[in-house]
Amino acid sequence: MVRDRNSRLKGPGPCSGSVTPAPPRPSSHAAFVLAAYAAEGSLVLQHCDECGAVMYPPREICPACLSDGLSWRAENGDGVLIAETTLYSSTSAYFRERLPLRVGAIRLDVGPVIAAHLRMNAHAGDRVRVTAVTDRSGNAAFIASAQRERCDMGEETLIEEFICHPRNRNVLITNVSTPTGLAMVKSMRDHGARQIYAGCADPSIEFAGKNVLTEMQGVSLAALDLRSSSSVATLARQIGHELDILINTSHSLRHGSITCAGSYEAARSDAEIEIFGLMRLFEAFAEPMRVKASGVGLTSGAWVNIFSIYALANAPSCGVSAALQAGAFSLSQSMRAEFAGCGVKLLNVFHDNDGAEDSRWSSAVAAATLDGLCRGLETVVVGVRARDIYKRWREDPSVLERELVEQ
Ligand SMILES: [Zn+2]
Repeated sequence: MVRDRNSRLKGPGPCSGSVTPAPPRPSSHAAFVLAAYAAEGSLVLQHCDECGAVMYPPREICPACLSDGLSWRAENGDGVLIAETTLYSSTSAYFRERLPLRVGAIRLDVGPVIAAHLRMNAHAGDRVRVTAVTDRSGNAAFIASAQRERCDMGEETLIEEFICHPRNRNVLITNVSTPTGLAMVKSMRDHGARQIYAGCADPSIEFAGKNVLTEMQGVSLAALDLRSSSSVATLARQIGHELDILINTSHSLRHGSITCAGSYEAARSDAEIEIFGLMRLFEAFAEPMRVKASGVGLTSGAWVNIFSIYALANAPSCGVSAALQAGAFSLSQSMRAEFAGCGVKLLNVFHDNDGAEDSRWSSAVAAATLDGLCRGLETVVVGVRARDIYKRWREDPSVLERELVEQ
């Protein structure tokens, strides 16, 4: 694929044929806050620091006491569905393709009334729980589900647009020669993936778990060397048009400070995979995945990048490797922007493994990735230590930087 140096992925719109239109992109600070938390699966509302009032939709000042001291806090989303209706027409091209659409008004237990899409099991008078997800343009969207019974997130057409359950999807996992790659294959297969392409630089070479993979139904070994543009492009020509989910398992954390012996050579070698390899993958697979996700029905695709939590904040004991992952994470942010409106959700998974992968830890990462896909998340953090670092990073990155120096 050759694109102009200033071009971006072609988003769906009136000039792009039969592709499904995208909802409007968020444009206010409050909309971005709601979306950033929804990407982690959190519903947040504003609380007044002066009088304690809780409000929705977002305000600049408290309507009760006129204070401008407002704070965002996470809510459980519990409430009562006080009204429901079904929409049969809309002036929006995006919503017209989704009609009829069930929506309702929910009075949350904390006070405000919020509008939400309704699951099939939610009816007026029911106790419901409202969850936050992001739509294909990156807006926060709310979904209400009855509390009395569990409802599988993948059962309804509307819900399938917000999530990316692996059921009946085609999946590429970029490096299966690691325990994480192997665990990812098993997880996708156990949850109904139609076809899994298990990437490895040279399928003729033996690696741990290869025999297990080759005996799995619906799993094919695929030659994929991220250090080679031709290798990546060749596989993209073969399977890119049918791919729904790409899971990049090629990042691994190495110990070593900037000044340790061999750091230059190791950094150059790792950069070919972690930085340039990610660019090669995106260059080759992004466009066919966008076309697949935006051209057929209302389902979505997903691209998953697995990172060390030190991609967010450098730990000097693995300073060079963390720097490379920070670079890859920065690329991932750019990828999300390019996918906006296309129907391909970008999920970043952060973990706290320090380089020694084992099957138990790898299974935890695979389970968390599956959960993120099934809930339509854009950020997943795995492990107690990673969650602690992530929390501190969100609070104040400059303080965290100093804390990590001591570890
Ligand atoms: Zn107030």
